[in-house]
Amino acid sequence: MAHELPPLPYDYSALEPVIDAQTMKLHHDMHHAAYVKNLNAALEKHPNLGSKSAEDLIRNLNAVPDDIRAAVRNNGGGHVNHTMFWKIMKPQGGGDPAGAIADAIKKSFGNFNDFKTKFNDAGAKQFGSGWVWLAGKPGGDVQIMSTPNQDNPISQGLFPIFGNDVWEHAYYLKYNNRRPEYLAAWWGVVNWDEVNKRYEAFKSGKLEPALASR
Ligand code: MN
Repeated sequence: MAHELPPLPYDYSALEPVIDAQTMKLHHDMHHAAYVKNLNAALEKHPNLGSKSAEDLIRNLNAVPDDIRAAVRNNGGGHVNHTMFWKIMKPQGGGDPAGAIADAIKKSFGNFNDFKTKFNDAGAKQFGSGWVWLAGKPGGDVQIMSTPNQDNPISQGLFPIFGNDVWEHAYYLKYNNRRPEYLAAWWGVVNWDEVNKRYEAFKSGKLEPALASR
């Protein structure tokens, strides 16, 4: 079955003023849609991969045939990353994290403010396009990391607990070249309930964050 663009779970304008409606519309309807379209186009050449989830495909890129590996890495990654991204944001989100994720942040980073500073710094320093993540390690600990392009921590054996998109298409219309301003404002729309679901999925050893959080 072909991969499908999931609907945005709120209106284009729902995350204003942090993210403007035009950015949301272009980001979801054009950018994410293109990743899905291009992923499906690549997989048409290898129908035997049709039953695999996008997460499964990017978890083991070496198992993907040479002729479509780059397309799957970029577009499968783009699909997985953006499917997460819409869900880990919500209108009137933000505030301090609660629950298990709050404890994990406190344990690894001391306090939420120090964590945000380190996360924002990693996002600001990612050269060119990419993502900044809180990723889960096999032993259960968490780490901040950034990835280029549409690469996802899954491809390195890590669990994508949550991440922020630092491609210019995510912020340029409103923030222009001021990526650090976007990174700082973004915390105001984080959906901590959804992040907690993903963190719980990680802690329980699940391999599919998208399925686990449905
Ligand atoms: Mn994006």
